[in-house]
Amino acid sequence: MNRYLVTGGAGFLGSHLCERLLNDGNAVLCLDDFSTGNENNVSHLKSNPNFDLECHDLTTPFFPEKINGIFNFASPASPVDYQHNPIKTLKMGTLAIYNVLGMAKRLNIPILHASTSEVYGDPEIHPQSEDYWGNVNPIGPRACYDEGKRVAESLLIAYQEHAGVDIRIARIFNTYGPHMDPQDGRVVSNFICQALKNKPVTIYGDGLQTRSFCYVDDLIDGIIRLMNSNYQSPVNLGNPSEYSILDLANMVISLTNSKSELIHKDLPIDDPKRRNPDISLANKIIDWSPSTSLEEGLKKTIPWFDKLI
Ligand code: UDP
Repeated sequence: MNRYLVTGGAGFLGSHLCERLLNDGNAVLCLDDFSTGNENNVSHLKSNPNFDLECHDLTTPFFPEKINGIFNFASPASPVDYQHNPIKTLKMGTLAIYNVLGMAKRLNIPILHASTSEVYGDPEIHPQSEDYWGNVNPIGPRACYDEGKRVAESLLIAYQEHAGVDIRIARIFNTYGPHMDPQDGRVVSNFICQALKNKPVTIYGDGLQTRSFCYVDDLIDGIIRLMNSNYQSPVNLGNPSEYSILDLANMVISLTNSKSELIHKDLPIDDPKRRNPDISLANKIIDWSPSTSLEEGLKKTIPWFDKLI
C-alpha cells in the first residue's frame, strides 16, 4: 500500500484528492494549517484507519517518514484569500515549496505540485498552451499569488535538473464543486449562494470576461493520471469550454429557479479578461479530458451549497 502526503489536504481540491486516494486503496497523511482549509471537508475520512490528519504550517520544515509521494496543494487560492495576507501567500509559493521539495529529495519520492493558470496572468494569447510565458504584473494585487506560483515552478525545475527530484507540475484552471468555501469570494460559490438566497448576483465589470470551469472530479482524475505518468514539465488541467461571467450568472439563476437580479460592481484590478486552457498536451500524455459539462457540474454543486447555507 502506498502512503501519500497531501499538503493543503483539508482545502477544496486537497480534500477531494485525499478521498480519491483512499478510495483507490492508498493511505493518506493530510497536512493543513487550516488558514483556508476546513476540517469539515475531511471529517468523513477520519474514521478510515488509513487516514491521518495533522496541523502544520509548511513555511516551517516538516519531516514525515514512510511516504511514497507528495501532492502539494497547500496555498490560499481565491483572490480574496490570497490577497488577505500577501506575505503569507508569497511564503507559501517560496518557503513552503522549498520545504516540500526538501522532503521529496530526502525521501527520494515523486512530488506533484498544484500550479495554476495564473502563471499566464492576463494572457495575450487564447487558448493558453504550456509554452506561453504569460503576462503577469509583478507588483499588482495578484502578484503575491501569480509570482509565488511562478517561482514555485522554477524551484521544481531546478530541483529536478540539479537534485534529480521526480516532479510533476499541474497548471490548474478554475475548478468548482462541493467543498468550496462559501466565503472565499470565488465566482461560482458567490453566484450559487447569492442565487439560493434570492439576493442580487454580483457581476464584476461588464461580465464579458471569460473563464473555463472544470468540475472537481474531472480535475482530480487528471491529477492522479499526471502523478502516474513520468512527465516532468508543466501540464494544463482544465475544462476548455469557455463561458462569460454573465453566461455563468444566468445559468446559475436558472438552475436554482432564483428570483435574483444581476447587479454590476467594479472589476478588480488586473482581473484577467479571458482564460481558456489548451489541453492537447494532457490529452496526449495522460489521455485526459474532462467529461462533465458546466450545467451537469453545477447541478452536482448547488445541492451542496443549499445544505450548507
Ligand atoms: N467575479 C464576479 N462576481 C463575483 C466574483 C467574481 O463577477 O461575485 C468575476 C471576477 O471578477 C473574475 C471571475 O468572476 O472575472 C472569476 O473570479 P474568481 O475570483 O472566481 O477567480 P479568478 O479566475 O479571477 O482567479
